Amino acid sequence: MDRAMASRRILSLFNTLTRRVEPVHPLEQGVIRIYNCGPTVYNFAHIGNLRTFLFQDLLRRTFEASGYDVKFCMNITDVEDKIIRDSQAGLPADASNAERLVAMKALTDRYTAYFLEDLARIGIQPATYMPRATDYIGGMIAMVEQLIAKGHAYAREGSVYYRIGSLPHYGDLAHLDREGMQVGVSVDVDEYEKDSAQDFVLWKAAKPGEPYWESPWGPGRPGWHIECSVMGIDVLGERMDIHTGGVDLIFPHHTNEIAQSEGCLGHTWVNHWCHGEFLMVEGQKMSKSLGNFFTLRDLIDKGIDPLSFRYAIQSNHYRKVLNFSFDGLKAADASLARIRAFRRRMTGTGEVAGRGDWKEAVDPMARLQMARERFWEAMADDLNTPEALASLFTLVTDLNAQDDRVALTVEERQAVSAFLDETNAIFGGWAAEEETLPAEIEALLAQRQEARATKQWAESDRLRDVLKSLGFLVEDRKDGTMSARRA
Ligand code: AMP
Ligand code: ZN
Repeated sequence: MDRAMASRRILSLFNTLTRRVEPVHPLEQGVIRIYNCGPTVYNFAHIGNLRTFLFQDLLRRTFEASGYDVKFCMNITDVEDKIIRDSQAGLPADASNAERLVAMKALTDRYTAYFLEDLARIGIQPATYMPRATDYIGGMIAMVEQLIAKGHAYAREGSVYYRIGSLPHYGDLAHLDREGMQVGVSVDVDEYEKDSAQDFVLWKAAKPGEPYWESPWGPGRPGWHIECSVMGIDVLGERMDIHTGGVDLIFPHHTNEIAQSEGCLGHTWVNHWCHGEFLMVEGQKMSKSLGNFFTLRDLIDKGIDPLSFRYAIQSNHYRKVLNFSFDGLKAADASLARIRAFRRRMTGTGEVAGRGDWKEAVDPMARLQMARERFWEAMADDLNTPEALASLFTLVTDLNAQDDRVALTVEERQAVSAFLDETNAIFGGWAAEEETLPAEIEALLAQRQEARATKQWAESDRLRDVLKSLGFLVEDRKDGTMSARRA
């Protein structure tokens, strides 16, 4: 790929703050700083959560494929209300604070490890930075102190609250109606509804039976929102290009992050706020509290290829609500199989497959160029993956038909393969396969080819089954040759 040209590609994204699709002009030339709200690690992530993490991965890979150096931060929320609830359940009432902290860490370490396994299975690249909230308690206390000093926060009975009336643009991200805000009323929980916008908690006084850290306000722990402000600024600096999460984070989490960070810094913190839509089940958000969820492990137990799940998600636009269905996964499987088969055809031996007249054919290089332009135009326009993939499928259809008539040249096949690499760098579903097959597989293929040449169809089918039992799927080409790939 032409890196110099790629580095000039400008991507546009929908910005929740302005409600418009806007070009992303990086703060630092060639570098994109992205902060992604990561998982709360008290249980397995469900596949709705994974949809949001796949959206973040798509964003990152698209910038990387466009020539940017992406500084990609995803935090791990390892102290929070639900984590405390679940990690302390089995402890005796008189457990020491040290024991409580250890129990909390044991739970979050376990689920962080499972989370990273899930990400790897669906081809999500590890973050450049993965800060854990409990490593930043000192920074959180310091930020709360600054907010008090600047008049944005007040302490009350060992807790500290953010005074939402102190920031003129509080709630802009969520388009809150300032009239309806309950200024002066405070809320202790991290999650609450828009119509009860209130002074939110920055530091929570410890209740009996809860783990805590010492602070100027007594023993307690940080609220959820302050965690991301502190980690974001510490890791990426005082300004960043993009901040992401699922749409449910717009309020209150991201609204409150802005209030904290901008209240402290005194300037704009994030240029672009990007939010992924929900994965739904029968019209309802997939969520742990509703109990209508699957984990990735559930899908794998049902024999579903994690990369088919990845494709089923990535082939839909990230800002459209998506209904989860097993039919959708099947369709994804079929689409991937089609692209992979095309890829093998393009990396084949280059033997003449077509028997037609060259004059009927349209120049494959022109088709490729068109597909590439359309692909990037779509991706640069708010990550329009359905449109980008449509351009790829048009290419597959056209070049399959072309190759049936007049075989593509080696150079043309190589150019097409390079485009498949380029698109795979984003979609992660059609990586180049190993060129060489094990010798015994080659031998079985040769035997099968001989059987077919002599019209021994039963023997040919038997050999296909043998290859399948060894984990290889056979594909017959129109010209009578065949190839195999790992199932
Ligand atoms: P949590 O681990 O609960 O903090 O959530 C992790 C991420 O998953 C957040 O960005 C949420 O917005 C997102 N999320 C939660 N439920 C869904 C869903 N049904 N579909 C898509 N994203 C979701
Ligand atoms: Zn966050």
